Amino acid sequence: YAKLRGKNRVERYQQRYDELLRRRGTLEAELRHAIDREQLRLVFQPVVALPSMRPVGAEALLRWTHPTLGAVRPDEFIPVAEESGLINRIGAWVLEQACIQLAEWLSRGHDVWVSVNLSPKELHSTDYAGQVADVLDRHGVPPQRLVLEVTEHAVATDMEELISRLAELRATGVRIALDDFGAGYSSLGQLRTLPVDILKIDHALVAEPESRTGTAAPLVDVVVRLGHRLGLEVLAEGIGTPAQRAVVEEAGCRLGQGSLFGWGVPAEHLEAQLRTLRPNTTRPMQAPRSAP
Ligand code: C2E
Ligand code: MG
Ligand code: MG
Ligand code: MG
Repeated sequence: YAKLRGKNRVERYQQRYDELLRRRGTLEAELRHAIDREQLRLVFQPVVALPSMRPVGAEALLRWTHPTLGAVRPDEFIPVAEESGLINRIGAWVLEQACIQLAEWLSRGHDVWVSVNLSPKELHSTDYAGQVADVLDRHGVPPQRLVLEVTEHAVATDMEELISRLAELRATGVRIALDDFGAGYSSLGQLRTLPVDILKIDHALVAEPESRTGTAAPLVDVVVRLGHRLGLEVLAEGIGTPAQRAVVEEAGCRLGQGSLFGWGVPAEHLEAQLRTLRPNTTRPMQAPRSAP
């Protein structure tokens, strides 16, 4: 009887495994055409200055809506893109679209920067820095307006190689953010040697104060201070409640992102937000009132 149960379990695993493989195969085949069939789009999540909550930038986040599969989450399809090699084409598309949008915002007088997520694979592709410089140049975007986010996962690979790739990128004038810091991959020592400009504290650290009051706030505090001591800007991700915002602000963090300030939205929605926050430029300048 035990043998039979064991066999059933193995069969169930096998079945699940087959399903996963099939799903993966489908995603890969469909992702191949996603750009040409115009199924991809970017949304932009505001980054705000703290404590003023004024938007100062936005993170471009990729969305894939398939006619029959529906919305597929980036956490599911980005790994597929990475493993199949499709990430280079997709990443190039993301960078281009983000720069087009950024150029448009800048041309309308918005003082913002845009950040784009980068897969380790892209970073290590031949002359990636050259490609970035080319895109910026074609769209007339000043390099300081672009932030490239590398995740902690990239740090697990060859450090020397990573440092030289990041240094090349930075030499073009773009800024580098270390994404998801504190999620558990890179060490404090590595942080010191990496050529980065912005430290993004992972939402897991930021979310903790809600669940275990009093234990995680010191962690946020330490990471913010560490970042500042290393001369980095520090941005707290995934701020979803006023309590979390308070912890982050008390730690001295001056940049925030999260559902409390807004989820990723189409570019025109974010622009509406930018416009209302610049009251002196939304209306034409008032002429000095003359005496009646
Ligand atoms: P990420 O770069 O760390 O992006 C932040 C993720 O947190 C986004 O998920 C965002 O929607 C979500 N988020 C924002 N505010 C909150 C909040 O208050 N609470 C919680 N719980 N989550 C929040 P999303 O868009 O599903 O993206 C997931 C990941 O997929 C990203 O994590 C990034 O690593 C990757 N990704 C997204 N777009 C791209 C892309 O264009 N290229 C590459 N290579 N990776 C991308
Ligand atoms: Mg990111
Ligand atoms: Mg992140
Ligand atoms: Mg992430």
